[in-house]
Amino acid sequence: MTERIPVLVLGATGSVGQRFVQLLDGHPWFQVVGLVASDRSVGQKYGEVCHWLLADPMPEWARQMTVLPAEPGVVEARIAFSALPAEQARQIEPQMARAGLAVCSNASAYRQEPDVPILLPEVNPEHLALIPRQRRDRGWKGCIVTNPNCTSTGLTVALSALQKAFGVKRVIAVSLQALSGAGYPGVASLDIFDNIIPNIRGEEEKVEWEPRKMLGKMNGETLELAPFAISAHTNRVAVVDGHTVCVSVELERFEGVEAAAEVLRTCQAPEVSRDLPSAPRPVILVRDEWDRPQPRLDRMAGRGMTTVVGRLRADPVFHLKFVVLSHNTIRGAAGGSIYNAELLVKTGLVP
Ligand code: NAP
Repeated sequence: MTERIPVLVLGATGSVGQRFVQLLDGHPWFQVVGLVASDRSVGQKYGEVCHWLLADPMPEWARQMTVLPAEPGVVEARIAFSALPAEQARQIEPQMARAGLAVCSNASAYRQEPDVPILLPEVNPEHLALIPRQRRDRGWKGCIVTNPNCTSTGLTVALSALQKAFGVKRVIAVSLQALSGAGYPGVASLDIFDNIIPNIRGEEEKVEWEPRKMLGKMNGETLELAPFAISAHTNRVAVVDGHTVCVSVELERFEGVEAAAEVLRTCQAPEVSRDLPSAPRPVILVRDEWDRPQPRLDRMAGRGMTTVVGRLRADPVFHLKFVVLSHNTIRGAAGGSIYNAELLVKTGLVP
């Protein structure tokens, strides 16, 4: 690609927005031409208004940019990466799609729409077949593609490999979710220090439904949900980054723990998604130690894009149990959206 594609970041000052700025710094295909946030920040320098939370320094080009309002046409761009809260995303993302931008969204606002894919390029690139229907029915030149909620991400990557090999019947998933998943300032320190909060509003429903959409089958222009059931318990823990999920799975056919480990270890992305700049390498890292994965040690596997699985063992109630870890603001949010945008470019879906 000789000329980089101009892109916007919506919600650029937030926890996920900052990850976009970090991961798009020096991206081979994309160039950030606009950083968008709320009225609180518009008109001010990004360096002054953004409370930067990442260990890498804020890129100099971003520091100098003036924060823009969320108006289509405010600057010429072809892709909008959205890290907006759901309520604002519901208003702003369709305006951008109507104006011809490919919107790659982290928000939950449109995930349940039957013509909007929840995309993980290493799992379901064929769901992009929904885009022509979306454009036709809504009269958009652009489109909206979402990534899943950050807890569903690693869970779905692991379940996808098991579903293809053995079929999945039933799942129980217990999450231990990082603080960065609640945005900034997020959970008050006195609520979470020395503590676990055994509920995250709205999260269980998402974890019980989104993987079934992603693992569903295209039937013409309609997406049919995968027929298995998931029971989820979601918990907030005092970890900065990295969502851990403890999973028990009943399979259609159980061929033993070693066979499952081999399927996960050798999991490959479909060819179309394999060589994209943000592709996870490997897709799944299987750890054999008795006490891994751990968020602090394993969340940056594959530059934060790899799904890490460990503690694979037989389950006395179902068939198999394991622990899966995924970086929530990289694979589960900004990095995932950038990978989605790369797939849109490769498949010719960016206007
Ligand atoms: P956050 O830290 O609260 O940031 C929200 C951002 O949206 C800020 O930049 C804010 O700008 C901006 N904003 C708010 N209202 C706006 C408006 N009317 N117009 C334009 N910009 C507006 O939230 P977050 O954690 O980054 O999450 C962003 C989205 O990603 C949410 O939908 C969340 O559910 C989703 N998500 C988060 C994670 C995660 O791990 N954190 C993972 C997956 C998905 P100001 O600074 O100017 O207020």
